[in-house]
Amino acid sequence: MSWIRFRKYLAVAALVPVVAWASGDLEGKLDQIRQLNYTGQIAQARLLLDQLAPTLRATSSAAVEHALLDAHNLALSGNLDAGLDSVSALLDIPLDDLTRTRALTLAANIAAANREHEQAFGFLRDALTMRDRIDDPRTLSQLFSNGAQMLAAAGEVQSALALGREAAQAAQASGIAREQCTAGQRLAWVKQLAGDLDAAAEASLAALAYCRQAGDRVFSATLALQKAELLESRGDRLAALEYLARSRQLFADAGYDRGLSIARLREAAILADQGHFEQALVLAEAQLPTLAQARLWDHLAEAHGLVASAARQLGQKSRALEHLDEKVIAEQRQHERERSHRLAYLQIALELDKHATRMAQLHQQARREALLRQSREQDSQLQRLSYLGAGLLGVILTLLVVQASRERRHYRQLARRDALTGLVNHSRFFERLDQAIKRSRARDQALTLVLGDIDHFKRVNDQHGHQTGDAVLRRVAARLQASFPSPAFCGRIGGEEFGIALPGLDTDQALKDIENLRQSINQQRRHDGTIRISMSFGLAQLRDGDQLLELRQRADEALYQAKREGRDRTVPARP
Ligand code: GH3
Ligand code: MG
Ligand code: MG
Repeated sequence: MSWIRFRKYLAVAALVPVVAWASGDLEGKLDQIRQLNYTGQIAQARLLLDQLAPTLRATSSAAVEHALLDAHNLALSGNLDAGLDSVSALLDIPLDDLTRTRALTLAANIAAANREHEQAFGFLRDALTMRDRIDDPRTLSQLFSNGAQMLAAAGEVQSALALGREAAQAAQASGIAREQCTAGQRLAWVKQLAGDLDAAAEASLAALAYCRQAGDRVFSATLALQKAELLESRGDRLAALEYLARSRQLFADAGYDRGLSIARLREAAILADQGHFEQALVLAEAQLPTLAQARLWDHLAEAHGLVASAARQLGQKSRALEHLDEKVIAEQRQHERERSHRLAYLQIALELDKHATRMAQLHQQARREALLRQSREQDSQLQRLSYLGAGLLGVILTLLVVQASRERRHYRQLARRDALTGLVNHSRFFERLDQAIKRSRARDQALTLVLGDIDHFKRVNDQHGHQTGDAVLRRVAARLQASFPSPAFCGRIGGEEFGIALPGLDTDQALKDIENLRQSINQQRRHDGTIRISMSFGLAQLRDGDQLLELRQRADEALYQAKREGRDRTVPARP
């Protein structure tokens, strides 16, 4: 259902509001800005923000509120990078728990809207670790409903449901219509994902009343669109068109181009159903630029598909083919996005797991220490020593807790390495790669990214057990480390997938090294009676316009091709 997908990009529309601030007059102004942000009067809000900025003392709580509203406004106006920079800067200064949680929630929201999923989950994780210290229901409702949305989009439907319910409870406790609208909508969406359509319809209906009450145009427009889709699916096209018109009007009033485009796309679909191919084609085609620019790949794919089928009906074969090709590309991008979203979630989940394990180990150590203390009761000197040890341990524990929940940077550093292989993990590898790309650019040097994946690794596990599988992973990691000394670096970026960054090498040079590695892995398998492994590699050299994402995508495609062509080979991406 396309309104499900539509919800994903609504993330920005539901960015968090802000709670308490300082003095009376200022308070009024900040509140006014907040309202303008919510009701989609983004330019007016910007004006007031800019007016207010010079009058604020840098470290006052009003300045912090201003910064949050400013980031929110930047994000709403489509300037997601700037919004994220601004809220990240805020997170670098000391904030009270409540403000930090709100800032983290906003950061998670903007990062998710900007498709920076890994970053988004990192912010979300940090915010969730603070939940016990927050009793403001509005803040909790926003945190939980954002979290529910992100988890659902990453395919974690059950956790999303649990968090969505907590969000609805907190929203109710806040008594604020807008919160109840947002939390209710998201819960409805998650319920729909979980396959409970009746409950979803019910939750959505309940949310509707609150959204009306809150006067939120974008959400009201979304609801009208949702209703139109429901009517369309029941075959009531005329009523559906009526709701689409309403939705379009509301989106237009709010200045929300993406929503407008999606509503028009639905209209085009109905026109095509009614046999008005010419009109459908023109309307669908007109939405392509907005959808592409907003990177709404799923809708873009649908639009190309629609143009293609209308063109076919009108006898325009080559046009139809052209759009079919475009459709496939958009679908691939959507697929890639879903995959990276899932990977990002798994990465963070893994880090949380590791964190929990580490804490458990420390607690155990503390208990052992306490026992030790008792057994040493006779020896006062030793006892003093062990008290000292326990005290130290307590300090370390406290520090760890504080650091883990408050100091994101530090925490990340602790979690940068993969426990099994000792290589840097997914996040850290791509962070380093990003830096390496910038350096290579600055020095006008080549850089090649290699992605390698063990072939049929599942069989290794199935035939020899997970422990043997783990040993193979460690062996491969050690070989990679040994084969590519600095400035090259390697990381474990997935279960049995590795990344190798080769600064200073172009594809041809890299190809030689990787082929050597691949063959040596093959050699090893000959000396090993039981475990036969081979690897596939994809290479891509940094091109002029490349960002990290493009480079990674091309290497990934090359790897995929290596797999498709039979595995146990190295494939360079097309230059
Ligand atoms: P392909 O050649 O297409 O890559 O096939 P494959 O079986 O290697 O690929 P697939 O992605 O289907 O399976 C990867 C397997 O890797 C599944 C998972 O059980 C295993 N795996 C992932 N992480 C670990 C790990 O840490 N230890 C062990 N032993 N196995 C792992
Ligand atoms: Mg594999
Ligand atoms: Mg794999």
